[in-house]
Amino acid sequence: MMAERALVTGAGGFIGHHMVNFLKAEGFWVRAVDVEAPRYGLSRADDFQVLDLREFDDCLTATREVDLVYQLAADMGGIGYITANHADVARNNVLINAHMLEASRQNSVARYFFSSSACIYPMYRQDTPDVSPLKEEDAYPADPEEGYGWEKLYAEKLCQYYLEEGKLLTRVARFHNIYGPLGTFEGGREKAPAAICRKVALARDGDEIEVWGDGQQTRSFMYVDDCVEGIHRLLRSDHPAPLNLGREDLVSVDGLVDLVMRIAGKTLRKRHDTSAPQGVRGRNSDNSRLRKVLGWEPLIPLEVGLGRTYPWIRAELGKAGRLPEQMRESEGVTAG
Ligand code: NAD
Repeated sequence: MMAERALVTGAGGFIGHHMVNFLKAEGFWVRAVDVEAPRYGLSRADDFQVLDLREFDDCLTATREVDLVYQLAADMGGIGYITANHADVARNNVLINAHMLEASRQNSVARYFFSSSACIYPMYRQDTPDVSPLKEEDAYPADPEEGYGWEKLYAEKLCQYYLEEGKLLTRVARFHNIYGPLGTFEGGREKAPAAICRKVALARDGDEIEVWGDGQQTRSFMYVDDCVEGIHRLLRSDHPAPLNLGREDLVSVDGLVDLVMRIAGKTLRKRHDTSAPQGVRGRNSDNSRLRKVLGWEPLIPLEVGLGRTYPWIRAELGKAGRLPEQMRESEGVTAG
């Protein structure tokens, strides 16, 4: 039997890289596409093409002769980046998603996955740290995050229209804060867990590190292995509507810092920068529907996932000779 053929877009990035590895382990033939070369190490894809998916012709090239599409390409970053770049983020992602859907239809793709985000949920439901977990139907009346969140919500709608009109079989997951090895950890696009791992790795025991916000804002975090498994299960399911894909246990940003410090074996003081962007006050996933639809839910605890992520970030910094233990006392260390 011929191997099923899958396309992973955004495969030079974090989740896409893991998605390629997962599909290769499952025996798929995999084409990987990204506008950049793989960020960390070689891709295991059978075919890696550098294409700009804002261009319709590039989307046609990408989706040629594949059965399954995992659409993970997006112009995105952490809260600092997506707060400062509404126009670019919204425009680039509208183009990618509109063109990828139509190209997949024209090339008769069998199943199409779209990665939406918890950022589509209304701001008015996320204004306290002890928020109620977000259910799928809470998405409306809409009041998503500016730029990135509005575009994701619109792309969800596009997927719905293609599905309802029989043009393309689409499946949509709303990811809640994914972390793990190979994620961006510096440069401005990194998310909180990776940024905190970097700051802790770069600090000497007893130092002070900067934490964005007052540290009381809460989130739930999902390890990337759970994410790719959930994507794969959802794409095969018969569930037509957007589905949460996240963990249900809430942690404060200060709690996250404490956990990383324990893993690193360091005691550090926190300096809270309340002028830095911090996003919504609290956000959590309600997994009731996920459990019902998939008969499965993400189970990797935060301490286990961070126990794999922190050493990877520390090792990357070590390769660049940037760890405090690699420097002489006199050279000083920047942990901010
Ligand atoms: P990432 O930034 O690591 O990967 C995205 C990739 O898309 C990058 O490698 C980038 O080069 C590529 N890309 C950007 N513009 C492109 C273009 N014009 N053509 C081709 N490729 C292009 O991000 P990620 O964390 O792996 O996110 C994957 C998907 O999951 C995205 O849709 C993102 O919005 C969604 N998501 C992620 C999270 C999270 O916590 N990581 C949360 C919610 C949703």
